[in-house]
Amino acid sequence: MNFSDIYKNQFRYSVEVFPPKTEEGVKNLIKTLHKLEAISPAYVSVTYGAMGSTRDLTKDLAFRIYDEIKSHTAFHFTCVGSGRQEILKYVEVLSTKGINLILALRGDIPKDQTEFIPPEDGFGYANELVSFLKEKNNLSVAVAGYPEKHPEAPSLETDIENLKRKVDAGAEVIITQLFFENPIFYKWLDKVRQAGITVPVIPGIMPILKLSQIKRITELSGARLPKDLLDKLAACKEDETAMRDVGIEFAAKQCRDLKENGVPGIHFYCMNKAYSVLKIVETLGLCFDSNRKCPT
Ligand code: FAD
Repeated sequence: MNFSDIYKNQFRYSVEVFPPKTEEGVKNLIKTLHKLEAISPAYVSVTYGAMGSTRDLTKDLAFRIYDEIKSHTAFHFTCVGSGRQEILKYVEVLSTKGINLILALRGDIPKDQTEFIPPEDGFGYANELVSFLKEKNNLSVAVAGYPEKHPEAPSLETDIENLKRKVDAGAEVIITQLFFENPIFYKWLDKVRQAGITVPVIPGIMPILKLSQIKRITELSGARLPKDLLDKLAACKEDETAMRDVGIEFAAKQCRDLKENGVPGIHFYCMNKAYSVLKIVETLGLCFDSNRKCPT
């Protein structure tokens, strides 16, 4: 299976998870993923820690998802902390399980540095990693896109030129950073298409769980939070269930609009939780697999 085939003539959901630090956490995540089977995710993508710190956790989790959920997994891989030989060795390990979906990323600048320093014999930008992966292996590669511009890019236009480098290097799909204002996404997508990028672009949607958490995440990603959404969340005060419900209502509206505007899929940043994603899909009545009942 490859990314292009997944989105060929069909709308698909996918979910992103991060490796828990404990065995208990992994068991809970496996339960979560069983619940999420109701939306038939095309793949589960597993994040990769800063400095490659969770690389083995990512691999072990990807293998367990493959074994226990029988779901396709997409492995996030960053340029941080790995040279060419290490990357090759790693990809070989993944191939023993038939994992060929890779989300190729540069990775964030490590906290003790002010600019990205490529590792010895490694890469400075994601497009270089994509070229290397495509040259050496039979891999299907996705990359990241930023509707509100990558924080380090001098302009949206330059960032889109750099996005094109990744696609020209062989990326089959673009998965976006989370965003909350669809008009920003549509305007950016027009520019992406004008730049000659034709591959599927999958919006990344994060159902908000808590105000404090989303403030932290948007500070890092640069995504704007609409004022009416912020006000609604603030009005919930300490009531986390109410906040989660605001998040569900907002994301369901956002997803409905995206779907009506013809996106090929939606990638949920589910924060290792099933409830919000299931509720959103139930609200939309968009179960992909008609033989499966939406959970209530
Ligand atoms: P790049 O595409 O290399 O871009 C980085 C910056 O350099 C941009 O400003 C770009 O405009 C510029 N640039 C790109 N190419 C060139 C070039 N050839 N010449 C000059 N300038 C260039 N991080 C993790 O650590 N682990 C994860 O698992 C993870 N998963 C993610 C999943 C998604 C869907 C997204 C959207 C992001 C994820 N990130 C993850 C965060 C990502 O690593 C950071 O946003 C990182 O800062 C940039 O990665 P990139 O692959 O977009 O980099």
